[in-house]
Amino acid sequence: MIISTGTASGKSLAYLTPAITACLGGGTVLYLTPTKALAADQLRSLRELRISAVRPATFDGDTPFEERTWVRQHANYVLTNPDMLHRGILPRHSQWSAFFRRLRMIVVDECHGYRGVFGSHVAQILRRLRRVCSRYGSAPVYMLASATASEPAAFGMRLTGLEMDEVTLDASPKGSTTFALWEPPLTDLRGEGGAPIRRTATAETADLLADLVLADVRTLAFVRSRRGAETVALSARAKLADVAAALPYGAHLGPLPGAPVPHPALPGDAAPHPSTGTAGDPPPDSGPPDTGTAPADPPGATPADLGALAVDADALAVEADALAVDADGLKAEPADPAAVPPAEPGDATAHLQAEPTTHLQAEPTTDPTDVTKTTTGPPSDAEPDWAGLPDKVAAYRAGYLSEDRRLLEKALRSGTLMGLATTNALELGVDVSGLDAVLIAGWPGTRASLWQQAGRAGRDGKESLAVLIARDDPLDTYIVHHPEALFGRPVEAIVLDPDNPYVLGPHLCAAAAEIPLTEDDLPTFGDTTADVLDDLVTDGLLRRRAAGWFWTRRERATDLADIRGGGGAPVQVVESTTGRLLGTVDEPSAHTTVHTGAVYLHQGETFLVEELDLDAGVALVGAAEPDYSTFARDITEIRVLKSLRTAPLGCGTLTFGEVEVTRQVVSYMKRRLQTGEMLGDEPLDLPPRTLRTRAVWWTLPADTIATLAEEGFDLGGAAHAAEHASIGLLPLFATCDRWDIGGVSTELHFDTGLLTVFVYDGHEGGAGFAERGYSRAADWLTATREAIRSCECERGCPSCIQSPKCGNGNEPLSKRGALRLLDTLLNP
Ligand SMILES: [Zn+2]
Ligand SMILES: [Zn+2]
Repeated sequence: MIISTGTASGKSLAYLTPAITACLGGGTVLYLTPTKALAADQLRSLRELRISAVRPATFDGDTPFEERTWVRQHANYVLTNPDMLHRGILPRHSQWSAFFRRLRMIVVDECHGYRGVFGSHVAQILRRLRRVCSRYGSAPVYMLASATASEPAAFGMRLTGLEMDEVTLDASPKGSTTFALWEPPLTDLRGEGGAPIRRTATAETADLLADLVLADVRTLAFVRSRRGAETVALSARAKLADVAAALPYGAHLGPLPGAPVPHPALPGDAAPHPSTGTAGDPPPDSGPPDTGTAPADPPGATPADLGALAVDADALAVEADALAVDADGLKAEPADPAAVPPAEPGDATAHLQAEPTTHLQAEPTTDPTDVTKTTTGPPSDAEPDWAGLPDKVAAYRAGYLSEDRRLLEKALRSGTLMGLATTNALELGVDVSGLDAVLIAGWPGTRASLWQQAGRAGRDGKESLAVLIARDDPLDTYIVHHPEALFGRPVEAIVLDPDNPYVLGPHLCAAAAEIPLTEDDLPTFGDTTADVLDDLVTDGLLRRRAAGWFWTRRERATDLADIRGGGGAPVQVVESTTGRLLGTVDEPSAHTTVHTGAVYLHQGETFLVEELDLDAGVALVGAAEPDYSTFARDITEIRVLKSLRTAPLGCGTLTFGEVEVTRQVVSYMKRRLQTGEMLGDEPLDLPPRTLRTRAVWWTLPADTIATLAEEGFDLGGAAHAAEHASIGLLPLFATCDRWDIGGVSTELHFDTGLLTVFVYDGHEGGAGFAERGYSRAADWLTATREAIRSCECERGCPSCIQSPKCGNGNEPLSKRGALRLLDTLLNP
């Protein structure tokens, strides 16, 4: 069974009840979650129940060896993660025989996290688990818990290989939510190619957070990066300090706080960091760059990141001017209704507000801390604590000890803390209820995450406010201009591809090492199993005998599958003077992010790469403060290996198939931080890398292209711009982000003989994203066209056709051409 409902709808209760019943009846329960933190939290709640017959224990990388035997022999509720199941439990299943024999239930919590390549690995691990269970004669019930997803039963079946019943009706009491879509204004600043630059989402979020805290609205701000979250908190605190200083002692806050707040320094909109995180996090920025007609872009957000910093340094001057005016305005002005724009009347309630059922005792939607009341109500008689105002805002980061988290929860509940800026790490392990407002800085990637984050506000039937603040990105732009893309729409399907031979192969080896494979096992692992087994035998990984397929090698079969990785041994980033390990970067990304001479960011500090030694797997870096950013340029070629599916699309043709992408980083550009001025191109000597993957591509007929050429359109620039924007929009239809996919566009492709735009999965063998693009092509490309059209820039900007990872220096690009190209394709 799969339960797919929103935040705080009581999913844990739904699986805990039968799970505990299973324990009481002498059975065992296996609980799987993507992260150790969540397992630790679940353990705590289980212990708090104080049911002596339930003996819960976590079993993960942190479990001391001396405790492991106890867990195997005595625990009846084992909490672990897919990594430990893959490497620790399944290979040693005989040590767990007592546990497996009595296994009644497998809980797969937060299963919406199992998407893409990682999800495909987990799907195969679950198939291995099923085989091991049947070896010990148990047939446990699978109970999946997921955030809202479309077609959850179909997803559950892809993940487990089993038929699923789905539960999607959320009857928990929820008040209505006012949802605002907020686009920061364009500034006078100019970026790449003279493109106008918007005020950053972090700067806008900090303003809103300060305003809401002043209005006594309990607010949570979700910011994509940790540095961004800290920036928002610092910036909001600074604003509140200014407010406190500007108000005479004993003054009342007055009716308002929608009034503008002084704008002090606004540090940059931090983008995701290029180094890879610790186990438990998905690898950030490990995707391939999209590429233009030939050279390509660095993955990782380094250039954009630094660009944003530079921009904000300039923005300081502008903001400083505003300060004087705003400080005056603060004293005199009453509530400024314009400070909070009217919300979209879309039916957000369709998702956020379920009809309360009588037995649940829904609260009425009136509440003293109600947002509307607070902003329009009479001045409070209480003497406010002005000096302590800035302390009402804090930043939260993952990794806090659970005691710290409990303190934080308490402070938020009691109102000593009114504003909290966080990454979505908060989703793990902090129970915050009774919030009034949620600010979301930047599209969180999926509608599912958006509702999950927005769902943090307005528990217990209270009304709430949610604001999505757009970043400079085609997808964000599209969404704030198209509320219909959010409201009244099902959330995304969770995409994974367990049949990917690059995923299946290693797990077949691991399965054979656990218990030799027989013909009877083939259906468990999917339709392509027989073919993949043949290849494994040919490659000498498995041996075929009369009784089945055997693993006879000395090494551990589980080492073949890198379930969270981007393939290949990671490159270690080491500080040369101290030998300190700063982080790791997967091998493909190393070429673009830590090549010799690259500027490398680590937790807000800047380093220069002294040398990248690929053979040793090490990049040596030194602390530095260069006044430029770097970005790698590469030459990318794509070859069509096999067309799998093809269909007409408007006047063109759409194809899904297998491709081989060859990329070679050939040089890197330096760009001055303050002005964006190019400082030259430095050659690099790096080997080409080849990726076999799956792609979706579209072509237009030769005569149509000839007509457009005669009209004087820059076809190369048009295709390149359409490619960038379409990469930006695909995440609206598949649960990927733009770093999971790459692109190539060309006026004339060798294999198709036509103008062609390719979008490919950035993972060996493919991950299901390009396939999703194929099946939703008309909607996807229509949304792409709308995103370009609705952007108010003239010739293209980061909100529409510029890409933060374009290795072609965002050249050539033609906004007009891209629109014409897509119009021609979609409306023949
Ligand atoms: Zn634009
Ligand atoms: Zn590009």
